[in-house]
Amino acid sequence: MSKLLIVGTVAFDAIETPFGKTDKILGGAATYISLSASQFGAESGIVSVVGGDFPKAYLSKLNERKINTDGVEIIENGKTFFWSGKYKNDLNSRDTLATDLNVLADFNPVVPENFKDTDFLMLGNLHPSVQMEVIKQIPNRPKLVVLDTMNFWMDNTWDELMEVIAKIDVITINDEEARQLSGEYSLVKAAQKIHEMGPKFVVIKKGEHGALLFNDGNVFFAPALPLEDVFDPTGAGDTFAGGFIGHISRTGDISFENMKRAVIAGSNLASFCVEKFGTERMETLTHDEIQKRLLQFKLLTQFDIELS
Ligand code: AMP
Repeated sequence: MSKLLIVGTVAFDAIETPFGKTDKILGGAATYISLSASQFGAESGIVSVVGGDFPKAYLSKLNERKINTDGVEIIENGKTFFWSGKYKNDLNSRDTLATDLNVLADFNPVVPENFKDTDFLMLGNLHPSVQMEVIKQIPNRPKLVVLDTMNFWMDNTWDELMEVIAKIDVITINDEEARQLSGEYSLVKAAQKIHEMGPKFVVIKKGEHGALLFNDGNVFFAPALPLEDVFDPTGAGDTFAGGFIGHISRTGDISFENMKRAVIAGSNLASFCVEKFGTERMETLTHDEIQKRLLQFKLLTQFDIELS
């Protein structure tokens, strides 16, 4: 079984969508990534930080899914990272209402001894210096390093972000962020510019419009499954990343052909995440449900056509 180390926020989120509003609930990039990746059977662990206000029951939820949380530091007299967002009517865009870094502001990550030989490294969304520090603590380079980030870090920590982006293999970001990162409107040109920054593989997430995978002139597109009910897109991007790295960890294959399947796996997992508020749907998701939906993905995209 391969090892997968996940870095990212473990957080409190307060979310508002046209369908309702939550108080502080469990959220965070590493939370969504790990819940999603846990469906693929890798031995996974999280590196993150929370405050004394973070319920132990939330960590137990992760442990129940065999996610190792030894690398989640608890700062007893500190407050957990808090994010709040409000979605527009079409659910495709959102406004961030609050990003309170709290304990994340002075976080010094420590990779647990038994994850220093991790096969795969998923650098989820958080401070790029923390992402870099984790890379430095792993003596032998993992088979694949994937990074996810967002506009907040581009706005506030550009230089640190450029440094870590130069060290990774795959970047996953949304279309708006790809444009901000590259200064290009065309996503094809954006991917080319991002390749030049370091990553050989660029995955651009387009919400309900699917995801694109770019690698040296090759492009692959995975649709998002048209869903009857979408309640809350929070965490969909991270859940996608978790499905992507989960599939790669299970198969151990880092070829472009297998990354195509990883993009489908990510899209598949993300389609569940949005069906309920917060992490709720991901907590009850079963292997059977995932397999059934994979078939729907196949049927959605397969066609025969004669070339004349
Ligand atoms: P997504 O909807 O996939 O972009 O991810 C939403 C999750 O990202 C939420 O659970 C938040 O807690 C977390 N998040 C929001 N802003 C940040 C940030 N600046 N850094 C790290 N994580 C964040």
